[in-house]
Amino acid sequence: MIRPKLIAGNWKMFKTLHETEELINGIKAQLPSLPPNVQAAVCPPYTSLMLAKQLLAGLPIKLGAQNMYAEDEGAFTGEISPKMLLAIGCDYVILGHSERRQFFGEKDEAINKKSKKALSSGLIPIVCVGETLQEREGGITEQVVTRQVRGCFEGFSTEMMTKTVIAYEPVWAIGTGKTATPQQAQEVHAIIRKLLAAMFSPEVANSIVIQYGGSVKPENAKELLSQVDIDGALVGGACLKADSFAAIVRSA
Ligand code: PEP
Repeated sequence: MIRPKLIAGNWKMFKTLHETEELINGIKAQLPSLPPNVQAAVCPPYTSLMLAKQLLAGLPIKLGAQNMYAEDEGAFTGEISPKMLLAIGCDYVILGHSERRQFFGEKDEAINKKSKKALSSGLIPIVCVGETLQEREGGITEQVVTRQVRGCFEGFSTEMMTKTVIAYEPVWAIGTGKTATPQQAQEVHAIIRKLLAAMFSPEVANSIVIQYGGSVKPENAKELLSQVDIDGALVGGACLKADSFAAIVRSA
């Protein structure tokens, strides 16, 4: 099966409304269409989602959020629900990003709950996993990623799993300028796919889009994306400029 390549831009806590307009207009100018079998999404902060949706009208670029709470509504001050994201027109939601895990204490159990809620609401979760530098140097990358994948997808049906996107993001490569080599990334992607084959089935494992994330730039995107198990990229820093985001999309 030929899996599509999905390039998603995680804007993190960057871009005011005015800056959102500039960036989306820049992306529009550079990416009036997408290469065959390539999908693209932008994930601005909550405050820019509505504007981004309006500006993207008529373009093949999808919209995603960077987090959500696992309830439709309620007394949860400061949180945003999947129902709200859907009403704006989001297709994707990033869940379990390492910055959520590191700074906000998110654990696999909560990510599992949010992912299930996203799917039952009609959003596609982009679920992030990845080891820290200490874990890599301690030789436990496989163990860590296996625990995260098992925890995040516990209780998933085959149907749920096939609708989910995974982003392998080694924490030591995020925002550091240090990219995993294509071989290092491919090795972990293959481990994840093998694990999914054991947890679900080889067919399910083969159909799942596994993105790589961690200092992806126009200069390294092509080689990373040409690896057999790398089906796209979750891009942080380089998605904040229209020309570098567009160049990564084109190199897919
Ligand atoms: C990310 O935020 O998911 C990410 C990969 O960031 P960067 O590309 O800046 O390393």
